[in-house]
Amino acid sequence: MAKKLITIIIPAFNEEEALPKCLSRITKLIDKEKAYDFEVLLVDDGSKDKTIEIIKNKRKEDKRFCYLTFSRNFGKEIAIMAGLDYAKGDAVIFIDADLQDPPEVIPELIKYWEEGYDDVYAKRRSRKGETWLKKWTSKMYYKVLQKMSSVEIQKDTGDFRLLDRRCVNALKKMRETSRNSKSMFSWIGYKKKEVLYDRDPRVAGKTKWRYGRLIDLAIDGITSFTTSPLKISTYLAIPTFVLFIGYFIYVIIKAIIVKMPVQAYQAIILLILFFAGVNIMLFGIIGEYLGRIFKESKGRPLYFVDEYNGKKEMNDGKEKISKE
Ligand code: UDP
Ligand code: MG
Repeated sequence: MAKKLITIIIPAFNEEEALPKCLSRITKLIDKEKAYDFEVLLVDDGSKDKTIEIIKNKRKEDKRFCYLTFSRNFGKEIAIMAGLDYAKGDAVIFIDADLQDPPEVIPELIKYWEEGYDDVYAKRRSRKGETWLKKWTSKMYYKVLQKMSSVEIQKDTGDFRLLDRRCVNALKKMRETSRNSKSMFSWIGYKKKEVLYDRDPRVAGKTKWRYGRLIDLAIDGITSFTTSPLKISTYLAIPTFVLFIGYFIYVIIKAIIVKMPVQAYQAIILLILFFAGVNIMLFGIIGEYLGRIFKESKGRPLYFVDEYNGKKEMNDGKEKISKE
């Protein structure tokens, strides 16, 4: 029987210092795991250093190593997507080039995959070599993202995970431009399993994240999964109208019962409240529609079938009806 193929996807951006160590550790690991065939797919995200040469040389001596290069730096999210598009494996594993995610966890990921889990994600038990600010911001980010979106987002989980082929095919159908893979992994669903690990410090080189980029990523994460910011308008309109009606009743009652004529400033306040309310409400309505257009414009499939007549749906458009 043919062995199953597992693709290890490594996004790399200027990783000349860490990459040789990373490749040798991965080679050691895949040599040991004899029950599977491996394909190591390095996605070079527009590096300006020797990253490409290192992987090209590696491929010369070992054909299990493949690579993709980008025309420029597109960011890790897109690198991951390209990796999915080019992976041939029955399962894929994402791993960072800086060895913060120890490759030694991989056999455990595979073990759970064999038990039938589709998405085996590695959760950080600890994070070494990261500043408190980074830890704190990432904690807050998870909190906000979780509050604002309806899909469950795994805490302390990065992109280090194993995905079954059908998850890969599902993700390949989500071709939106502002991507946030963490929420996408949750959104597609399927059977998930958590594995704990200790996150190591970077072996070499510097982190590629800049805070500006992290903020972009955070905003993308929120706006691509919820339209709730657009509802702010609707919620603001309600108290404005309540104020208007309250003040209106007050002025009328005073005019009728106390026989105090309506004064100019009162009329002006009433007018302001009324039109402010109308304005905000109209914005809210536009926002609701915009939100729907925004959702549609992504052209996502509405659902993914898990099984049909006992056969797993592979999301590849083929064999929708299984032979019985
Ligand atoms: N990376 C990438 N493109 C980028 C930034 C990062 O492909 O624009 C890769 C990087 O080479 C590494 C992984 O994404 O393999 C994680 O990046 P990094 O270690 O800098 O992030 P951190 O671990 O600090 O969050
Ligand atoms: Mg890192």
